[in-house]
Amino acid sequence: MAPRKTAKPKVTQCPVCKGSGEVSRTVRVGRKHRAVGEQSGFCLNCFGSGEAPAD
Ligand SMILES: [Zn+2]
Repeated sequence: MAPRKTAKPKVTQCPVCKGSGEVSRTVRVGRKHRAVGEQSGFCLNCFGSGEAPAD
């Protein structure tokens, strides 16, 4: 009863977006930089893939 080895893709989750590929950023406007809400944005760390870039 040996467990079959499955090819598990080794993907490191992006630590910035936690694998979602998106990050929420606070939107600020005006000179006082008043926060008007949050906007979901493309994660620049992994370029939206949700995977930590391997180097
Ligand atoms: Zn990311």
